[in-house]
Amino acid sequence: MPVKEGFDGARIFVVRYAAVMYMEFLRKARLGKLPALLLPWYDRCARPLPWRGERDPYRIWISETMLQQTRAETVKGYYARFLQALPDVQALAEAEEERLLKLWEGLGYYSRARNLQKAARQICRERAGQFPQACEELKALPGIGPYTAGAVASIAFEQPAPAVDGNVVRLLSRYLCDETPKDKLGETLRRELEEIYPPGRCGDFTQALMEAGATVCGPAGAPRCEDCPLKKDCLARENGRQKELPVCGKKAAHRTEARTVFLLRAGDALALRKRPGKGLLAGMWEFPNVAGNLEASQALEQAARWGCGPWGEVAVRQEKHVFTHVTWEMTGYEIHCAQAPAEFVWATQEEMKTRYSLPTAFRRFLPANEK
Ligand code: SF4
Repeated sequence: MPVKEGFDGARIFVVRYAAVMYMEFLRKARLGKLPALLLPWYDRCARPLPWRGERDPYRIWISETMLQQTRAETVKGYYARFLQALPDVQALAEAEEERLLKLWEGLGYYSRARNLQKAARQICRERAGQFPQACEELKALPGIGPYTAGAVASIAFEQPAPAVDGNVVRLLSRYLCDETPKDKLGETLRRELEEIYPPGRCGDFTQALMEAGATVCGPAGAPRCEDCPLKKDCLARENGRQKELPVCGKKAAHRTEARTVFLLRAGDALALRKRPGKGLLAGMWEFPNVAGNLEASQALEQAARWGCGPWGEVAVRQEKHVFTHVTWEMTGYEIHCAQAPAEFVWATQEEMKTRYSLPTAFRRFLPANEK
């Protein structure tokens, strides 16, 4: 290679390297401003939520687990009821599964509740009921991922452990104008944030990031930039790109399934059965149901095969329920049966209210006075 060409190549490499380093320096400087921008705003504007100011790891763990995939407004009532029934890790470890699922009924993602109990049992068995403080030890417990571990470690134990959820990714992808797909950006941000945690206010900083992402830089509609503590430094706002960010990664395919659901009534009782132990709504109670949208005559034939006939009134209702990867389009038949076949559990109205936890997809078919 001629000497001049080799020299030009080296110069281009040096210039590019310097540019990358400079961009990294600017990004670090921008991230470094976050505690000073967010904490005073958080002190003034944080919503008064029931778990705000909480430092007990058990209570923080319950609230953060409930808040995954669920809005704060919805969680409030569940949080209070759950802690009243199961006030500490021992009570959770010893609770009957049926009671636990009843307390969780309507929150969805029931594996969260089962994992809470598995982890509680492990904490009682191996650690005499004491929560681990280190993020890595928390992550070793069933159902605790990097987000929940970071939340508990930083809020309860003042560790510099970021909790990066969808709200934080949205906020910071916009603040930094970062086009990395959001499923990959979370881990990068977690590493970067670790370096800027303010000693003595780790828990507040975690909550300030979540709060700004959940309120001013929200997902639906336009972000409320005028109210945002980051507005003067936000690159997406400067470039008018707020609505383009964060960039979505590949979404799992969403499918639609037709199902026919049976409210089989025998006197005061309704037929229930348990779902299989694996897959969607694993191990939960359900109304008997079959794949496909059956006509009324086909539905009665199915009820006859179960041994429910002869029947009186039959009523029909359409309902829809959206899960993460599948939507159920359901036709429901309410059938008053003469027989109550033993293959089902027959639950009275009282038992439906107090004992059996029924996922929302099925609960939709209950009349208001039976919910
Ligand atoms: S200025 Fe607007 S886009 Fe930027 S972080 Fe704040 S709310 Fe989000």
